[in-house]
Amino acid sequence: MPGLVQGKNTVVLGVASERSIAWAIARRLAQEGANLALTYQNERLEKNVRPLAETIPGTLVLPCDVSDDGQIESLVQSLQAQWDRVDLLVHSVAFAKKEELSGRYVDTSRDGFHLAMDVSVFSLVALCKALEPLMGAGSSVVTLTYIGSERVVPNYNVMGVAKAALEASVRYLASDLGPQGIRVNAVSAGPINTFAARAIAGFTTMLQRVREVAPLRRNTEAEEVADTALFLLSDLARGVTGEVIYVDSGYHAMGMV
Ligand code: NAD
Repeated sequence: MPGLVQGKNTVVLGVASERSIAWAIARRLAQEGANLALTYQNERLEKNVRPLAETIPGTLVLPCDVSDDGQIESLVQSLQAQWDRVDLLVHSVAFAKKEELSGRYVDTSRDGFHLAMDVSVFSLVALCKALEPLMGAGSSVVTLTYIGSERVVPNYNVMGVAKAALEASVRYLASDLGPQGIRVNAVSAGPINTFAARAIAGFTTMLQRVREVAPLRRNTEAEEVADTALFLLSDLARGVTGEVIYVDSGYHAMGMV
């Protein structure tokens, strides 16, 4: 039986380690027949990404620092040289300075604010624009967000504001790209122990709180996020766009937390 994304040409940005949510998504998409291109942010992370990519035969490995327009353009050219179209885009990228992920939001620096918004939000807009000519009816884009966009989560600070802008961008991009049959959605994941998450002060408390109060009384696994990303990327979700789906053991539903 063909897989849910059989033969779909898929770009995945955001693999940094085997714990990365992007890596769980990439593996799941490969199981369902996708052709993959994984990107790496820099040469240091290339050393992590290449061995992972080698476990999925045929996977392309390409550089892309999303803060550099030239690298986004080169990525598109490299993809075009290999594929006649891009069906699926996974955007699993975010960054804020460590010092902005503790203490008070009011202390955010101008530079730190711009950096977080550029890497974590504008990159999705830039990638959608750059890939739009290669995408078309049936294409689907998924990004990753967190409940800190809607509620105050201690220490999440500027990243919460960036995630709010990211979720708004999902809706605007869904509106812009919908007429071409391109869908844009987000998965809002519960806390998962990754490189990015460990930069947030008090991250282990966030994990513990979810285990205590979320309806399912356990933490989210990257594989659970990957299954929902697969759904959103596949034709099963052909009527869904501009949506944010929580995969967080139900934590978002609770009031007194
Ligand atoms: P991760 O550290 O594995 O992945 C973050 C990725 O962002 C890395 O691959 C890193 O290389 C990439 N990145 C940062 N700056 C970049 C740049 N300039 N150019 C290109 N890539 C860049 O951590 P993760 O938890 O898998 O994060 C993936 C996404 O999931 C992020 O958007 C994050 O905010 C989101 N998210 C994570 C959690 C969690 O608890 N881990 C929860 C909800 C949402």
